[in-house]
Amino acid sequence: MGPVCLIIIDGLRPDAIRMDISPTLWHLSKNGVFSPRAISVMPSITLPCFYSIFFGISSQRHLVLSNENNTTKVNYPNLIKTLSEKGLKCGVFFDWKPLLRVVGDPEALDCCFFEDEESSSDKISDGDHRMFSSAANYMSSGRADFIFIYLGSVDIVGHQFGWMSEKYINQVNFIDKNLGIFIKDLPEETTLLVHSDHGGHGFSHGSDKDEDMRIPWIAWKKKRNKGYLIDNQVSILDTAPTILSLMDIPIPSEWDGKVIKEVFKLN
Ligand SMILES: [Zn+2]
Repeated sequence: MGPVCLIIIDGLRPDAIRMDISPTLWHLSKNGVFSPRAISVMPSITLPCFYSIFFGISSQRHLVLSNENNTTKVNYPNLIKTLSEKGLKCGVFFDWKPLLRVVGDPEALDCCFFEDEESSSDKISDGDHRMFSSAANYMSSGRADFIFIYLGSVDIVGHQFGWMSEKYINQVNFIDKNLGIFIKDLPEETTLLVHSDHGGHGFSHGSDKDEDMRIPWIAWKKKRNKGYLIDNQVSILDTAPTILSLMDIPIPSEWDGKVIKEVFKLN
């Protein structure tokens, strides 16, 4: 079993995956296992979504309902903690502080790249590039079992200039180019999962509108040239159980999601 790489692009809408905007994501969606209408959780806000992704449960159960929540203790199995306890080597790469509580104890990780960079202009111009290059460095060590990369700049640009605005599209294009470089050096046996936490409309998100709730969800492996469109409804709650299933690890009974079985078509 090869490593699993999870990339979450904050605020990426499915309709920003287009040949002319994001040819890499387009290629992954056409040659991988893809849902263009996966679903987020309510409220469709970053921190509640990340709790749902990494603790495998709905926001009604973890009760982290805003980005400002920093007191709620969530007593459910965490994806990265579960992997680390099995002796697997995990690396995480992110630059948004609240995620520290989602990825768990940095000491338990094999690699933790966290940049506490306050300037959003720097995050837009170079932050995600640094995430990719640090993650690529770690991958080249050959010891990674699981890596998680958080890319925050598309959401920042969405809030500043509007979802699907010219600047938003340009930012998606910037990330896409960096993703294209990153996947070139990925070991062949890596399973890559790419999705977002939520979408957005106007200058924000958080509602139950389709534009906020619908997200792209992609699984991809090198040297596969047949794509599969997933028929069933995919949820961000399905990511954690799917990753454990790929690694042959039992899935905690507390989790709400299901395994996306189509990912095994990539093997
Ligand atoms: Zn946002």
